[in-house]
Amino acid sequence: MAAPIQHDPHGFKRRGVLFVLSSPSGAGKSTIARKLLASEPELSMSVSYTTRPPREGEVDGKDYHFVDLEKFREMVSNHEFLEWAHVFGQRYGTPKNDVFHVLSEGRDILFDIDWQGAQQLYQLAGGDVVRVFVLPPSMAELRQRLERRATDSQEIIDARMARAEAEVSHWDGYDYVLVNDDVEECFDCVKTILAAERLKRSRQTGIIGFIRKLRT
Ligand code: 5GP
Repeated sequence: MAAPIQHDPHGFKRRGVLFVLSSPSGAGKSTIARKLLASEPELSMSVSYTTRPPREGEVDGKDYHFVDLEKFREMVSNHEFLEWAHVFGQRYGTPKNDVFHVLSEGRDILFDIDWQGAQQLYQLAGGDVVRVFVLPPSMAELRQRLERRATDSQEIIDARMARAEAEVSHWDGYDYVLVNDDVEECFDCVKTILAAERLKRSRQTGIIGFIRKLRT
């Protein structure tokens, strides 16, 4: 399914979208985020700070900024985060990084954060935020995906499953809830949501000039 793309021959300016993608870990969110970034040049990823140690293959500055607890606390007290939360006994935070400037330039930012982050971001930036929650087709399938991934011990997988159930209970804090039966189909839905949200009248900040011209 091709996403509807409206080119901009009239020079409309638009305001960007703060696009939040959450899911229990293993539900396919990272694959969808990767594909979205590859296909959407106006979208960039917010890289969070975390106190958790890097997993094998993770790159500092790309997957996360890995910091110790002292540094994280210092950043909290300097108000350097848009939001932050405790997840799995570690701390995760979204840096401010001039997001509102990025929005006003018509560029979008993708956030891979949990329900606590989605809630805080929404409280802060309301209408700029679009929250998408990706569900696994079943909890049994989620466990299988986590086991197939083989990056975590059984104990961690059990903890992730317990947390997944808690995450799922926050489904109603999102604007869109999708079931990831098939990653390509789910990706197409996410792309369509982004395309439609970009076209919302409230984001078409340049349209007023066009309307004035039409009426003269
Ligand atoms: P992981 O350790 O598996 O990379 O991430 C664990 C969870 O933390 C995921 O659900 C992810 O979405 C969430 N997370 C990552 N960065 C942030 C952040 O900056 N803020 C919040 N609230 N959650 C985050």
